[in-house]
Amino acid sequence: MLSTPQNSPPEAALRERLAALRRRVANAAGAAGRDVDSITLLAVSKGQEIRQLRAALALGVHQFGENYVDEAIPKIHALRSGGAPGQPDAGVIWHFIGRVQANKTRPTAELFDWVHGLDRMRIAERLSGQRPHHAPPLNVCVQVNIAGEASKAGVAPGETLALLREVAALPRLRLRGLMAMLPFDLPVSHQHQAFAALHELRDQAIAAGLPLDTLSMGMSGDFEAAIAQGATIVRIGTALFGPRS
Ligand SMILES: *Cc1c(COP(=O)(O)O)cnc(C)c1O
Repeated sequence: MLSTPQNSPPEAALRERLAALRRRVANAAGAAGRDVDSITLLAVSKGQEIRQLRAALALGVHQFGENYVDEAIPKIHALRSGGAPGQPDAGVIWHFIGRVQANKTRPTAELFDWVHGLDRMRIAERLSGQRPHHAPPLNVCVQVNIAGEASKAGVAPGETLALLREVAALPRLRLRGLMAMLPFDLPVSHQHQAFAALHELRDQAIAAGLPLDTLSMGMSGDFEAAIAQGATIVRIGTALFGPRS
């Protein structure tokens, strides 16, 4: 039985979707000959209520992704104080996956553990300068416009290495890897091509002396292709939580 009588329907539905998602991730990893433990499931909780985040946390999900600072702040505070009195900190890792706005860099640097959407040096410098000294360096991924869409965020593939070198030199950032987001309607073969291109860019950066360990790629509609092409973090919203409000 996947649900128990004391589960109210939203929690039971979440439990079943999480189990199905974990099976799909494990199958995709197995098909690619990869260890499933090399893939982190990042639960994209934008547009979801705090109750849903708490339910996911109770099911063993510890990494959450948010796109908007103002929406994330109450969630971060709620989960921080979410344990029963005397319980240890819930140990949640917060990822900022949206576009970082220049006027929101301070709360982003103070509240998050990771930033995935870095594509401008000006923002990187502000995040480094504003990262609190008591905290470890902020983990960052540089976002690459890998599918070449005019409207999408991200640095051009040909400019990626130069930006990576500059970001790697900032004292309060820890450069982890590359991130990409594909258009929703790409055929599967094109998903594979684009994700493989991001993997190739990471290999080039490693060969150039930048020790990147992260490929943040794959969402609800394309994570299987991403895992086949080496994703280490998949960012999953609707396939886990259902439709967003
Ligand atoms: C919203 C979002 C996701 C999750 O999208 P789903 O299709 O709901 O899985 C992942 N990454 C980024 C950058 C997003 O903005």
